[in-house]
Amino acid sequence: MKAGVLYSIEDLRIQDVAMPDPSDDEILIKVNVCTICGTDVRVYHYGHKHIRFPRITGHEVSGEVVKTGEKVKDYKVGQRVAVAPAVPCGRCYYCQRGMQTMCLNLKGIGYHFDGGFAQFMVVPEIAIRSGCVNIIPDNLSFEEAALAEPLACAINGQELSRISLGDTVVIVGAGPLGCMHVQLARVRGAGKVILVEVSSSRGEFARRFFPPDILINPLKEDAVQKIKENTDGRGADKVIVACSSAKAQEESLKMVSPRGIVNFFGGLPKDKPYIRFDSNLVHYGEFYVVGTHGSAPYHNRLALNLLSQGKIKVKELITHRLPLKNLKEGINLAESGKAMKVAILPWE
Ligand SMILES: [Zn+2]
Ligand SMILES: [Zn+2]
Repeated sequence: MKAGVLYSIEDLRIQDVAMPDPSDDEILIKVNVCTICGTDVRVYHYGHKHIRFPRITGHEVSGEVVKTGEKVKDYKVGQRVAVAPAVPCGRCYYCQRGMQTMCLNLKGIGYHFDGGFAQFMVVPEIAIRSGCVNIIPDNLSFEEAALAEPLACAINGQELSRISLGDTVVIVGAGPLGCMHVQLARVRGAGKVILVEVSSSRGEFARRFFPPDILINPLKEDAVQKIKENTDGRGADKVIVACSSAKAQEESLKMVSPRGIVNFFGGLPKDKPYIRFDSNLVHYGEFYVVGTHGSAPYHNRLALNLLSQGKIKVKELITHRLPLKNLKEGINLAESGKAMKVAILPWE
């Protein structure tokens, strides 16, 4: 089969590799779509502590079951499935308390196991046992289903940010995740959604497909002031920083209202993870700062349901479709910000 194999940092080769062979308790899926994530870009340039090369990466995967091991009872050949890539152990301190994203033994598809930038992918037994393999509802395409994974991360983020009825929510960053956050905040009952984005083309894209109540370009106007003006001077109840920017994180602490919640949803570059802020903002504002990353299997199931019910739309987010042989070009497109989501189609 054809696969994109990462041999080391920035050494990605599209080549023929041996067909993976599922064991008794595994399943084999034919990959229909694997979308490129910001993490894939980061892994390409910097590697990852859980990746030992060579590795087939890609973790936003949907496809069709083509083979099941003898002991597999819950899945059948021909089923359309989306696979949640973060596999919790179910036994550790955090798993037992329902905090699966913090699992001490977390394993990742595309990290510890080969992922979806390939024509076929084996789903390991532990992923099946942990409930990571979800049947795709009939009314969803493979492309939409692949985006259940990033949506699941947004759901985890908004759960921990406690977005609730009537909240004024600021989303910083109108990338694919920012656009999902805008929609999800509405589903959770936000009263007002304010989107902050430095790129006017991204802002316009969001305005067209996923319109916020207010769109702010911080290069053209004072975002903090505008948010205060729209909240009777209080600031937003919740702020989600859905971009990888230290400046945005610093500003977010001035956007939030007393007793509000700020979520550092986007991670900062590994070599520049520090920010500066006036700690008296926290002292006097009594607000909370939380970070979130990843998702649990049940978030992925929930994401598929929300997509299937039409409560959240992701189709428009896929701006580029490329065959596997152009994976490197796809990574560049995702990195340049020219693309929203790039879908890799391994059978094109
Ligand atoms: Zn992802
Ligand atoms: Zn665990």
